[in-house]
Amino acid sequence: MLNRVWNWLRRFLFGRGADHPAAPDPSIRPIPAPARSSKSVVPLLVLPRLPDDFQLDAVQERGEDRYYTSSPWEPDTEALRAAIDSAEGWLETAVGTPIKWEPLRQVSSERSVAEWRELGVEAVRAEVERLLLRWSDDYIYLAFVRGLGGYAGGIGFQPGAPGYAVVGDICIEAVCGYAEPTAGSVLLGGGPWPSSAWSASGQTGAFVHEALHGFGLPHPDGWRADRQPAPDRTIMNDWWRFPTYARSNGLTNIEMDAVREAIGPYAVGGRGR
Ligand SMILES: [Zn+2]
Repeated sequence: MLNRVWNWLRRFLFGRGADHPAAPDPSIRPIPAPARSSKSVVPLLVLPRLPDDFQLDAVQERGEDRYYTSSPWEPDTEALRAAIDSAEGWLETAVGTPIKWEPLRQVSSERSVAEWRELGVEAVRAEVERLLLRWSDDYIYLAFVRGLGGYAGGIGFQPGAPGYAVVGDICIEAVCGYAEPTAGSVLLGGGPWPSSAWSASGQTGAFVHEALHGFGLPHPDGWRADRQPAPDRTIMNDWWRFPTYARSNGLTNIEMDAVREAIGPYAVGGRGR
């Protein structure tokens, strides 16, 4: 699992998007920002069930994956809320429309750490349903899950179904300002990471990036070859640059349009409202 994540993460830096640094930002005229957003983001802080022998502050191996969770197990929710607030403000500026982020819900999951590690982002649906929250395209669920190490992932919404995403310990701990060494230095040591990837702002960028996958945004190489955003202009590649991007608010026009379409009255194929 971590290798998969690692490969994703590596693509942020060395992905095909980076092979087109000279690709011009598409000179399309953006669609207007809708007056309000039909979708909101629902952040969840998930504390999985712990086995008796679970160790904090120690490397845990599971197959080829390595995990590291720093103490304390329950993170600083005030710091997490502050990061969510900054994410909400940043996204409003980037999209031109406020998108509501609901208050952080702390959840004690019935699933174990091992189950979350096995299922990753796919565990979100069952958790949402257990909490009696609605599984509909009005929402993007963003789960901060303790015990998931460097794992992160996001799935785009579909008509009738929400977007959903998870981030693990690296994101939570950096956002909360935990002292290094954290998951990052152990799991991804030697990686090609700029130091900002481990900062509170860099990992705020990481969870906004995952939430934006929930809104349907791909990485730059998910767009047509002649329309791929330049990596340093978009949070969908250079998430660690958050909150400041070169020559953009962090989303290029084609991406801003896609989010506006996702949240606005323009959607084709959705059920509308
Ligand atoms: Zn991504």
